[in-house]
Amino acid sequence: MTVVILGGTAEARQLAAVLVGDGVDVVSSLAGRVGSPSLPPGRVRLGGFGGVSGLTEYLLDQRATALVDATHPFAANISRNAVQAASLADIPLVRLERPGWGNYPRAEFWTWVPDAAAASAAAESARRPFLTTGRQTLTSFTSWADRDVVIRLVEPPVTPLPARWTVILSRGPYSYSDERQILTEHAIDALFTKDSGGAHTVAKLDAAGDLGIPVVIIARPEQPPVRTLRTVAEAAAWCHARGNLKFVGRSSS
Ligand code: NAP
Repeated sequence: MTVVILGGTAEARQLAAVLVGDGVDVVSSLAGRVGSPSLPPGRVRLGGFGGVSGLTEYLLDQRATALVDATHPFAANISRNAVQAASLADIPLVRLERPGWGNYPRAEFWTWVPDAAAASAAAESARRPFLTTGRQTLTSFTSWADRDVVIRLVEPPVTPLPARWTVILSRGPYSYSDERQILTEHAIDALFTKDSGGAHTVAKLDAAGDLGIPVVIIARPEQPPVRTLRTVAEAAAWCHARGNLKFVGRSSS
């Protein structure tokens, strides 16, 4: 009788906050990869489930009324598992996914690529690239040891990086002025990003556009065909419409 939110995004935290504010019993699940994650209100569990069977078992144990997959657009494995587990546990599933940057108005200097390997091949002439594609894509860029790469990560890299690379450890959201300063200070000549979408990390695209810096953007992986909502308000309404929710500190209605 509980809403389970697969999280790790700002939208997942916002949804938990709305539902908890409504008195709904919510448990947010985080992968547990970052040292001190931003925690949402409500109950929180950390770490993988051990695949589809573990997630199915967890949903049944919790007597979950609804499952919201609010994971990052590039977290494709957990989203695939969610589809199978929701079906096995016979629990309604919805995906909350922020829109991508496909309609960004000033994308004339953008090159879209399907994955990180294609990204590294797409800007061969870049000598001072800014990599914001995340820790999991690092292996695609290791041949760039002779370039002055600036790389931004949330957590320190697990393997040593080439001596010429500069690591910036930080977590969004980022402001336009800070992003512009990084691009100018390091004389960046190409920006690499994933199509994460949303407002938290869009400032780098605005700054790159103003500075005429080319952008290489990795398209989102294909996600399983699941009903997908774009806003937290829609997802909250969907949860309420499932009915039979457990209300914490109130009588059920
Ligand atoms: P992934 O490749 O789809 O997932 C790999 C495994 O991590 C899953 O099979 C699952 O392990 C576990 N896992 C992932 N999300 C989980 C969650 N919310 N709760 C419990 N277990 C979870 O995912 P990823 O790309 O490594 O991303 C991990 C987390 O970071 C996600 O929750 C995502 O929302 C967040 N995140 C990802 C990115 C990105 O660019 N990929 C960016 C920002 C935030 P089991 O199979 O053992 O259950």
